[in-house]
Amino acid sequence: MKTTLPEVLAPAGSLEKLKVAVLYGANAVYAGGQKFGLRTAADNFTLDELREGMDFAHARGSKVYVVLNSFLHDKDLAELPDFVRFLEEIGADAVIVSDLGVVRTVRALSKIPVHVSTQASTLNVEAAKFWKSMGATRIVLGREVSIKDAGIIRREADIEIEMFIHGSMCMAYSGNCVISNFTQGRDSNRGGCAHSCRFEYTLEDLATKEKKSAFFMSSKDLQGLRLLKDFIDAGIDSLKIEGRMKSHLYAGTMSKVYSEALRYYEEHGDFLSDDLLNWEKELSKVSHRSYTEASLENPAGAESIFNERENNSAAEWKMVGTVLKSSPESGIVIEVRNAFNQGDELEILPFRGSPVTVVAHEIMDLTRKTILRTKPTTIVRLPYHAGINSSQLVRQKSV
Ligand code: SF4
Repeated sequence: MKTTLPEVLAPAGSLEKLKVAVLYGANAVYAGGQKFGLRTAADNFTLDELREGMDFAHARGSKVYVVLNSFLHDKDLAELPDFVRFLEEIGADAVIVSDLGVVRTVRALSKIPVHVSTQASTLNVEAAKFWKSMGATRIVLGREVSIKDAGIIRREADIEIEMFIHGSMCMAYSGNCVISNFTQGRDSNRGGCAHSCRFEYTLEDLATKEKKSAFFMSSKDLQGLRLLKDFIDAGIDSLKIEGRMKSHLYAGTMSKVYSEALRYYEEHGDFLSDDLLNWEKELSKVSHRSYTEASLENPAGAESIFNERENNSAAEWKMVGTVLKSSPESGIVIEVRNAFNQGDELEILPFRGSPVTVVAHEIMDLTRKTILRTKPTTIVRLPYHAGINSSQLVRQKSV
């Protein structure tokens, strides 16, 4: 019998990132409108962008889920019906919700499938059955559930199950943290989390007066690549990648690696450790904290704490641009995001397969005048190289 593989569900923090994730293989993406989501600092989609993103994804066989996972007060809820009708009109494939009032509103006004957000902290069969009785079609389980238990919930509650496989973690049960509210006045359950768990705190031993500074509430990042076969065997329907606030390079790399790994499994029926190693190397090229498998096998403990100062500039690779066009006549035309120099070695990330190395022996501007160093937001031209297509990401190893 053919195994049904889980979908790869990637974050779409903006319309551009949605396109990147879809082009790099995500089967589905999740995006937020201007309201009702939990990422007020993301470049949330306007109505026109949502419509365009939906059309773009559907034309390529991918789905779009829209997050409505804030906990709403009555005044917020009153604004929801128009948005729900709009989402149904543009063909949203699902909405992701946590608030029972939102579930009832969506159910009453539309036929859009309802996915229960991880914010609802669903951890057991009975809770999953409850959500199903409310009309939900999928549960995004709390990150505290192991793959093994998730498989049981899927079987016994007979409902689609989505699990996080990659990305930043909360030290608290998602949706049950108010540190940000109390320390920064920013409500984490209404999209304003200040990531207070990442701050450095001082611990004082009251007996000895000894003080110690530490990042004891900051979690490592989740990475479950090596457990892919367990997810498949447990019948998990969707593998979610966290990170709507993260970069284009992140959206592209994650979508590419996880979808490539699943395609490999479809073809070969197993994973070889060498291949896993190669995919892991790719995942490590994107800015991240140390990785942990968190609670995917056993409950996370002290080993999952990231007791270090964050250092985003330590990313192994940075994105330097996007290919706008590539042909023997035009050369490789790149929109630059981060400057690079003549002679630099760049890698262009194809939608499938290994990165293509291109040395910038000659850089020209659009008038074909040679330049020695590019500037962000400009458009430049490199000599033609076969196998490069528009919309592919260009990266460079950080020095
Ligand atoms: S402060 Fe940290 S633990 Fe709390 S909601 Fe924000 S990210 Fe999660």
